[in-house]
Amino acid sequence: NRELLLIPGPTPVHDDIYKALAGETMAHTDARFVKIFKNSLEMTRQLFNNTDGEVFVVAGSGTLSMEIAIMNTVAPGEKLLVVSHGFFSDRFTTLAKAFGIQVDTIQAEWGQHVDAAEVERKCAEGHYKAVTVTHVDTSTGVVANLDELVPAVKKSGALFILDGVCASAAIEEDMQKEYGNAEYRLDVVLTGSQKAIGVPPGLAIVAFGPKALAAREARESVLGYYADIKNWIPIMQDPGKYYATPPVNMIYAFEKGLEMVINEGLDTRYRRHAALGKAVRAGLAVYGMKPLASEEVAAPTLSCILYPEGVNDAEFRSKLAAKGMIIAGSLASLAGKAFRIGHMGNVVEANFVKAIELVGETLHEMGKEADVQGAVNEFKRVYEGNL
Ligand code: PMP
Repeated sequence: NRELLLIPGPTPVHDDIYKALAGETMAHTDARFVKIFKNSLEMTRQLFNNTDGEVFVVAGSGTLSMEIAIMNTVAPGEKLLVVSHGFFSDRFTTLAKAFGIQVDTIQAEWGQHVDAAEVERKCAEGHYKAVTVTHVDTSTGVVANLDELVPAVKKSGALFILDGVCASAAIEEDMQKEYGNAEYRLDVVLTGSQKAIGVPPGLAIVAFGPKALAAREARESVLGYYADIKNWIPIMQDPGKYYATPPVNMIYAFEKGLEMVINEGLDTRYRRHAALGKAVRAGLAVYGMKPLASEEVAAPTLSCILYPEGVNDAEFRSKLAAKGMIIAGSLASLAGKAFRIGHMGNVVEANFVKAIELVGETLHEMGKEADVQGAVNEFKRVYEGNL
């Protein structure tokens, strides 16, 4: 009788992960724990195909992982380009400014992509040390087109920093993948535990490639202590060593979560998410609910859905919550006009059949027409057709 937690993260936590989380807390130096930590780091490397860099898993949230990525690679006074398609992309701007970094931004209209040609042009002129791209911006449900953006950025030699908070373990983030040239690769991927990985919030996870590690190596010091990767490298190479106490129980949960990801198979998991995204949007469209982003740029993990005429946001979401289904409102100028529904992590087809039924029932209660069976059928047809 669990709630259907369909916000853009945290996502529903599988029983096996809760069981792992509830294990007895061991000494962080206990050989049994060190083995679990090592195994988790090894699976983190697999998730990002990080074979020639280093991964970092520390207590914190996605915002700390953003900070670790920026603070270690870009020095005060150096330049960063923020490629923004929404609220979470913009967080890089305020974050970087706090470290005295000079920031330029390329902004897409919400619901749309940035133009890769503009990014390429700006990078050619801008002398940027790094460029940030948010893989899925959680405010808009737009997925970045890495096939175009990675070459556009890497031609200039800047580091490519990818925010995978709303994408990792649902959309490919392969640090060995060559985007048209051996040099055109992701340099940093950062994420959190609570979205498509399906673990409760509490871990900051960052993968550095060799060029990003070299950027930290080249600096005498950075404006951080806990977030300085140099202090963590010995721990990540040998988790028996101490720097700051690791979140022991969260690491148990993380190991189990990654085991589930890897056992499902990365490609299978990516396909499942792509199919779920398309199907949820198709099912809701039967109710006259349209996504903000067009299908070419809409994310596998989360959708931002515009309300049909006359549906009140607060009333709609509180009626759904009373039925045990939790969705999120929208941010900034979309507040009240759209809701956001997550379809990521350890969620299955049956969860969304239920969700689409509950949305239909709620629309009925609000005096709207809704073809529940039609919406469920459309969801299933698109899901099964895209698996
Ligand atoms: N980046 C993206 C794309 C996000 O969706 C979020 C959280 N919604 C963050 C960063 C920040 O993560 P956290 O809330 O875990 O600090």
